Amino acid sequence: MKYETCDICKGDIEHHADNETGRVYWKHGHNAQPILDGQCCDVCQEYVLHLRLKQLQLDTNKTFDRNITIKSMANRIVARRRQETKERLQHA
Ligand SMILES: [Zn+2]
Repeated sequence: MKYETCDICKGDIEHHADNETGRVYWKHGHNAQPILDGQCCDVCQEYVLHLRLKQLQLDTNKTFDRNITIKSMANRIVARRRQETKERLQHA
């Protein structure tokens, strides 16, 4: 079965299958906002959730320039995740 690509790390999006029947019910990934517009894998999803939490925290603290801060954090996450994928493929 073909895998879709995670827009954050550029790796494969894992298929979720039913434990008993083995039937795949999930292969399109998760919403990658606010990191970027697109879909992401399970591992990147943790970073997405973390950034959403940060976004909520920043909403209550208006002294932050929210757009710049969230955007720069998102860029850093994307760069790190793509680097990790590259290293994983080199060692495979
Ligand atoms: Zn990913």
